[in-house]
Amino acid sequence: MPEHLTPSELLALDREHVWHPYGPMPGRQEPLLVESAAGVRLRLAAPVEGRTELIDGMSSWWSAVHGYNHPVLNDAARNQLERMSHVMFGGLTHEPAVRLVARLVEITPEPLRHVFLSDSGSVSVEVAVKMCMQYWRSVGRPGKQRLLTWRGGYHGDTWQPMSVCDPDGGMHDLWSGVLPRQVFADAPPTGFDAEPDASYVAHLREVIARHADEVAAVIVEPVVQNAGGMRFHSPGYLRVLRELCDEHDVLLVFDEIATGFGRTGALFAADHAGVSPDVMCVGKALTGGYMTMAATLCTTRVAEGISSGEVPVLAHGPTFMGNPLAAAVADASIDLLLSQDWQGEVKRIETGLRDGLAEAADVPGVRDVRVLGAIGVVQLDHPADMAAATRAAAREGVWLRPFGELLYTMPPFVTGDEDLARICAAVRAAAAAD
Ligand SMILES: *Cc1c(COP(=O)(O)O)cnc(C)c1O
Repeated sequence: MPEHLTPSELLALDREHVWHPYGPMPGRQEPLLVESAAGVRLRLAAPVEGRTELIDGMSSWWSAVHGYNHPVLNDAARNQLERMSHVMFGGLTHEPAVRLVARLVEITPEPLRHVFLSDSGSVSVEVAVKMCMQYWRSVGRPGKQRLLTWRGGYHGDTWQPMSVCDPDGGMHDLWSGVLPRQVFADAPPTGFDAEPDASYVAHLREVIARHADEVAAVIVEPVVQNAGGMRFHSPGYLRVLRELCDEHDVLLVFDEIATGFGRTGALFAADHAGVSPDVMCVGKALTGGYMTMAATLCTTRVAEGISSGEVPVLAHGPTFMGNPLAAAVADASIDLLLSQDWQGEVKRIETGLRDGLAEAADVPGVRDVRVLGAIGVVQLDHPADMAAATRAAAREGVWLRPFGELLYTMPPFVTGDEDLARICAAVRAAAAAD
């Protein structure tokens, strides 16, 4: 391999060998080659639509809340790197992981006291499912081994998470007979500010009551269903789920992998409802988008249940569990978030998105425009032409990655007002591009 590869050589090798998310092999669409990133800007190795710099409207899939190449996070990584990048977590521990775990316990809803660190969101959901199923086995209810969720969800791409993704939007048809068969309620009615709908609440009550004997846990994304359709719902439904789960001896899992760390305007989406789950997953923005790490938190009841069972351990232990480098950056990222008026910044972005996206409602083919916290969504009445939409955004100097009918943005919290206006212009252009 030559020491220097030109952009076109890199892209040729990429096309030949590299699998990209949800992509065919070889790829059909050429990815953009990113050379570096700083603040809210991605610097490209080869221009696209005449641009060598794009404002990032995606926060690298919800994660880069502080932007790129942040001096505080760089320092945290560098300092930790000089001590150790990694040591195994079996039989060993270290300050970065201990600090991070104590911090997570402090900032998440009160009864969550025990934390299992893992290396990706999907794995943290697998761990959550294992915790719930093992809990019921341990306390003598081995029949409770299914999951219940509402339609329209997304929980990751490994098997258990995939089984609770939206059965229509997910890959359920392809994997019928292989995926665990879970219980699905209807998708929650939309609208963050809408009053909970009585007939939907009755439906939830009926489904949970009917399946309570076989269901270990209800798992949902609180307030925002992201990759399943970017839909917002009333926090009131979370209070209903909490009541029904208590009434019927079912555990409640909140997947806050996308919503955690301020994105929806509350530190965790559960805070909008004032409700605590029994198990909670966080990931994505946990490390400020620097590297991969996720966590599963649970209550003392769940932990003690598991530990009192026939097999009194949680048999899970990723090789890179508690990775010190990721933990040190995560701790610094949370510090950075909480040391500023993050709520004010998210509010500012919410206002900017509302103002900037309102006009998109008049673009032909646009069905709905919605904003919550630092999340802006323009929904078309037809699937977007991803290549055309991405190019239209790039012409405006912005990186967007639509899926299905959805053009959406969740910018880094450090996005300035001018850049935010450009992101909104790009979303409008992408909507019109089609
Ligand atoms: C992204 C996401 C996951 C999966 O996380 P990975 O790190 O991609 O495995 C799970 N649940 C939700 C809600 C997510 O947004």
